[in-house]
Amino acid sequence: MHMAQSFRMKPPMGEDNGWWWQQADAGRLTIQRCQDCGTLRHPPRPMCGECHSLRWDHITASGQGIIESFTVLHHPQFPGFEYPLIIILVQLEEGTRFTSQLVNCAPEEVRFGMHVTMIMHEDPDGFRLPMFEPAQGAAA
Ligand SMILES: [Zn+2]
Repeated sequence: MHMAQSFRMKPPMGEDNGWWWQQADAGRLTIQRCQDCGTLRHPPRPMCGECHSLRWDHITASGQGIIESFTVLHHPQFPGFEYPLIIILVQLEEGTRFTSQLVNCAPEEVRFGMHVTMIMHEDPDGFRLPMFEPAQGAAA
């Protein structure tokens, strides 16, 4: 391993979201679900914003969605990322939104409404996190 290799800063993982990262580590994109009203929410948090219930479970998302919004970052700010970086807001087919990174796509080809598929990215140190790439046939 190269000495100068910089690693991605890890997101804070606490009681509220540690389970979610364990699912990601197992290769699953999961969405928290309220057990009382069924509302999906992300990122994970203790209370349902709709009915204030504290009871929840989670579902495994299909990983299919469309790009609702995106931004292309050109300037390095964080170690462990390659630039330009395409940050996307994905509308998952389950109906909730997920902020992620688009990979395997040129910045000039990303479009609103583009169909994307989740891939489980793995850093050199083994840290796994969901990213997205254009769904088959979505890229020009
Ligand atoms: Zn609820």
